[in-house]
Amino acid sequence: MSQPHTVILVGAGHAHLYVAAHAETLVERGARVVLVDPAEFWYSGLATGMLGGMYQPTEDQVNPRALMEAHGGEFIQDRVEAVETGARRLRLAGGGELAYDYLSINVGSRVNVGAIPGAAHDPSVWSVTPVSNLWKVRELLDARFRGGETPRVAVVGGGPTGSEVAANLTALATRHDVDMPVTLVTRSDRLIKQAPAGAARALLRNLNRRGVAIRTHTRIVRREGESLIADDGGHLNADVVVLATGLEANPLVQETGLPARSRKGLRINAKLHSIADERVFAGGDCAAMEGFDLPKLGVFGVRQAAYIHTNLLASLDGKPLAEYEPQKRYLAILNLGDSTALSTWGPFWWNGRSSMWLKDFIDRRFLEGYRQHSGNTQQH
Ligand SMILES: Cc1cc2nc3c(=O)[nH]c(=O)nc-3n(C[C@H](O)[C@H](O)[C@H](O)COP(=O)(O)OP(=O)(O)OC[C@H]3O[C@@H](n4cnc5c(N)ncnc54)[C@H](O)[C@@H]3O)c2cc1C
Repeated sequence: MSQPHTVILVGAGHAHLYVAAHAETLVERGARVVLVDPAEFWYSGLATGMLGGMYQPTEDQVNPRALMEAHGGEFIQDRVEAVETGARRLRLAGGGELAYDYLSINVGSRVNVGAIPGAAHDPSVWSVTPVSNLWKVRELLDARFRGGETPRVAVVGGGPTGSEVAANLTALATRHDVDMPVTLVTRSDRLIKQAPAGAARALLRNLNRRGVAIRTHTRIVRREGESLIADDGGHLNADVVVLATGLEANPLVQETGLPARSRKGLRINAKLHSIADERVFAGGDCAAMEGFDLPKLGVFGVRQAAYIHTNLLASLDGKPLAEYEPQKRYLAILNLGDSTALSTWGPFWWNGRSSMWLKDFIDRRFLEGYRQHSGNTQQH
């Protein structure tokens, strides 16, 4: 390599944790490596269990600064506001600018709260993103229960996240010995539409048994006062609302001016860089790989991580880049908050305590690995 390069990682997402934990390999090639993120990394895998009272918030976090600095990189706590790919420059919310030679974007996704008029500015409505919101919801409910209140809670969205959230809200109430009304609303004809029908039935039985009211075929179109209004004019009263209506790519990717699929993310090829700019890599929920419609799940960012790292190294070395091929099947495990979990893998599913044991093992091992990489082996 002839002259030093600057590699900027935007967002401490799943893929960039890995790159951060191997930053010294880029530094050894003379590169300056900088990770920019406004916050801690909160892991969604444990987040619903944290909501239900199974985990503490410290168990769910990784400190990206510690990780970067332990591996010779730099960390800037800030939010990237704009990416000027022509000038190869980033603008930060704090007012600074950063020039780059290679950029990698791993800024995740969001729930589009604005799609439900009246929701965005209502303090009783919470989105499941950022996942740290689930800790805020737990704190709020803990306080209400202690004050003798029993709020009515509605979860909007009957996918895996909404279902897990509803199950864990019920678990939290059970821990407090409170009979809290929880309603799970979906516009679909059944829960977890992407999972085998048998798994959805098992989930429904579990939630019904624990008192969660399920409303299918109900599309929420507005929040008005304490009501959620459905498109058929029906309404549901709720003091606390959690929105899990699906994940859309972080809108920052639209700001780059590079080709993007709206809501899906920056268009990338198998080398995981923009189809229009080989200096801009992207992974995880903010990226849309050509020829695939990958679900917005952490497992894909985790698998892409090593390819982004390898291809940043190859770019610095002027060598050919590796090509990532997404797996066809993936293991998804829903924590149901009652010491059981529901696992699906393609057409197969199983539920019970062994599923929960497996999820806890996989998720804790993932986080503990990064804590050890940060030089922090403390057990939480
Ligand atoms: C409640 C919940 C439970 C889930 N459970 C699972 C599960 O069990 N298994 C699974 O596979 N998937 C699960 N998912 C999906 C999973 O969370 C996402 O697919 C995953 O987080 C995407 O990872 P990522 O690496 O793309 O980004 P993330 O891990 O979301 O990280 C994005 C990072 O970018 C940072 N960032 C955002 N904007 C900027 C900016 N402008 N500048 C700088 N930094 C920025 C954020 O602070 C964040 O640290 C769940 C999602 C939710 C909401």
